[in-house]
Amino acid sequence: MKKKTIALVAHDKKKPEMINWAIANKERLSQFELCGTGTTAKLVAEATGLKVKGYLSGPLGGDQQIGAKIAEGKIDIVIFFWDPLNAQPHDPDVKALLRIAAVYDIPLATNPSSANYILQSRFLDAQ
Ligand code: PGA
Repeated sequence: MKKKTIALVAHDKKKPEMINWAIANKERLSQFELCGTGTTAKLVAEATGLKVKGYLSGPLGGDQQIGAKIAEGKIDIVIFFWDPLNAQPHDPDVKALLRIAAVYDIPLATNPSSANYILQSRFLDAQ
């Protein structure tokens, strides 16, 4: 079975949460292809030693690149720790990523507890 691809995105104030979550789930994550927005991908790769393909930084178009990959059917799961307490300069891109994931019925977790549910899901073993 082809490995599923997980995209990782975390806003700046959520990056520590993303790193801690990735470290805690390193073994499980090693069973997937990983990608992410530029800074998130770099930080997760450094913290876990896992290979994480980096797109552009979110505010510079990375969210849009990940959205495009979803539209192409190349991303199966999105872990997106967005920051509900601070305005983002690329808010339209954030909304677009949330929207396109909904359009294509892509499982999307916005916090560590929902991300844990996804990683434990029996649906991960389906085609
Ligand atoms: P970053 O982008 O991982 O490059 O910081 C995330 C974002 O802010 O969307």
